[in-house]
Amino acid sequence: MSGIYIGCHLSVSGGYEAMGRTMQRYGGNTFAWFTRNPRGGKTKEISMEDVRGLGQILKEGFGPVVAHGSYTMNLCSANEQTRANGLDMLKKDLERMELVPGNYYNFHPGSHGGQGEETGIELIADALNQVLQEQMTTTVLLETMAGKGSEVGGDFGQLRKIIDRVARKDHIGVCFDTCHTWDAGYDLAGDLDGVLAEFDRIVGLEYLKAVHLNDSKNPRGSRKDRHEKLGRGLLGEEALRNIVRHPALQGRPFILETPNDEEGYIREIRMVLEWMRSPA
Ligand code: FE
Ligand code: FE
Ligand code: ZN
Repeated sequence: MSGIYIGCHLSVSGGYEAMGRTMQRYGGNTFAWFTRNPRGGKTKEISMEDVRGLGQILKEGFGPVVAHGSYTMNLCSANEQTRANGLDMLKKDLERMELVPGNYYNFHPGSHGGQGEETGIELIADALNQVLQEQMTTTVLLETMAGKGSEVGGDFGQLRKIIDRVARKDHIGVCFDTCHTWDAGYDLAGDLDGVLAEFDRIVGLEYLKAVHLNDSKNPRGSRKDRHEKLGRGLLGEEALRNIVRHPALQGRPFILETPNDEEGYIREIRMVLEWMRSPA
């Protein structure tokens, strides 16, 4: 497919169908939502009518949608109870995802909290092997991280090692966050082709299922993870435009996680659509 799907994060509080309607109004054709409030609390009750309503909208030219797991979910925590809670959240989130079959669920691989990268990788893969089921229609995406603190996922090799250990490889992929990857040190502004070739060599582009399209408040390699509006950060407009238009990334859902209100998201969606249409 030539062209990408574009949308942003939305609140699930009004239900699933309402998110689809909101995104139609914004002019986009995909979206993301947090499956739980950021503090990791309860999930919202879903009615079958609501789920069917969204299903109808998704058939009208939408790409896959990308649910986001809670930030409190840390599958490689040094604390056993935290790990168990994370596994429980993941399991329940994936059960609910089957109500909207065939979409993506992305999460932050986790922070190993001083246990070391190898232990972190083992724990994350272990958890995934406990929840990924053959009959699942959802693909679970590991997000590329900025590598702050003891975060796992700040380099492509770590993602590869997790995927290597996952048994059901048809149910796993990567969500490529442009702010995080830049902050982790990859030169998306100066050498986009090189970074994507490296991703392909180490992980494989066939695993890159979705993109989080964000500018960054910080320079490359800062390991900070502070998102900025498109074109207002250190990644910059030209780099982001090249990412949207890159042949290797076509056909994927792109999700904005930029600091914006409704008006700002509508403006950025329109901007990205213009980048897609304008000639090289
Ligand atoms: Fe994220
Ligand atoms: Fe992200
Ligand atoms: Zn972030």
